[in-house]
Amino acid sequence: MPLTNESFLRDFAQLSAIGATDRGGVERQAGTAADHETREWLAAWLTQRGFTIRFDGIGNQFGLFEHIPGAPYVLLGSHLDSQPKGGKFDGAYGVFAAAFAAARIAEMLASGELTAKHNVAVVNWFNEEGCRFTPSMMGSGVYTGKLNLDEALDTLDVAGVSVRESMNDVIARDGYAGPAVACYGEIHIEQGRLLERDGITIGLVDKTWGARKFLVTVHGEQSHTGATAMEDRQDALYGAAMMITAAREVVDNFTPGILHTAVSYLEVLPNSPVTVARETTFNMDLRSADETVLDEAIALLEKAAAEAETKARVRIELNLKHRWGLLAYQPEGVALAEAAANELGLSSRTIMTLAGHDSTNMKDVVPSIMLFVPSADGISHNEREHTSDEDCVAGLTLFTDVTRRLVAGELA
Ligand SMILES: [Zn+2]
Repeated sequence: MPLTNESFLRDFAQLSAIGATDRGGVERQAGTAADHETREWLAAWLTQRGFTIRFDGIGNQFGLFEHIPGAPYVLLGSHLDSQPKGGKFDGAYGVFAAAFAAARIAEMLASGELTAKHNVAVVNWFNEEGCRFTPSMMGSGVYTGKLNLDEALDTLDVAGVSVRESMNDVIARDGYAGPAVACYGEIHIEQGRLLERDGITIGLVDKTWGARKFLVTVHGEQSHTGATAMEDRQDALYGAAMMITAAREVVDNFTPGILHTAVSYLEVLPNSPVTVARETTFNMDLRSADETVLDEAIALLEKAAAEAETKARVRIELNLKHRWGLLAYQPEGVALAEAAANELGLSSRTIMTLAGHDSTNMKDVVPSIMLFVPSADGISHNEREHTSDEDCVAGLTLFTDVTRRLVAGELA
């Protein structure tokens, strides 16, 4: 089966049919049947092309092509899990572009067309999305030593099912720790609209925005919605409402565009129509290109929490659960990708990533390259997420050439 652009698009459409939703998206949350099915699909695709499949203890899936015995790997990948009613490109495009680029390079290695310094491997990181199990970027977090394996495996979803239980049939029993990696490459949809606005095909990611993710708990007292005197109430949902509003409005204290915030998950106890809430739990997500902005915003939100405590007669806990800073991607990698794009005649610009990616973790341990292709109207985490065939193929072409350079040892 020749590795043509047409077969890339055709096979990607086949992958997108797994967990497909009626509005053109996919639903493949981590560790669900649909997520397992994509793993099997990818394993079959890679095995047919001479790759060996291995899984590490958190369920990261590796496809290895060992050309030079014992040499470290150029690792390429992203994630096949999705948000509930998510888009079919987020992560999956990157994994399949990685598989396709690696298979093209494997052919070049096998035919002697390319002299390699490194081997090449593909990875499908477990639970990048962090919707069913938090935190996000779980698989790459464990691989890079930022997350403890057992803690990650013990993480529960809302139904009380653990990561370990959801992955039992997948997790390796042989203690495989993943391949030794020389450098890492990832391609992803932008999920914003800068590339589209500028009419540019390729984003060369040079930095990540910083992030602070809180789990907030508001403690109140359960009471009757009708009978309890207003001044006696300790309404945890009212306290939450004040904090949700504060999280949105804190943004207005800063230069427009420099701070993004959201509360997107809310749990109410007992969640009964005739009972004032005794407890609410929600996430609070802050992102900025400036870490002092994050610190200032958090100080303002702590003040807002103290005010809400008095006004709603509740107690509010802000627990920082996940954070990352503004670390840059290695400039040599950005330069390598830019040179490759120029040679291929593809327009490119440097760009910061607002979202976290597995490469956000990987870049802290090995030289890493992150590429973006345009997202139509910047829509993401939505079934309407779209990237044109032309942009998908352009990204694949560049990613293949970047991989060729990495395998030849141009970066590490
Ligand atoms: Zn993603």
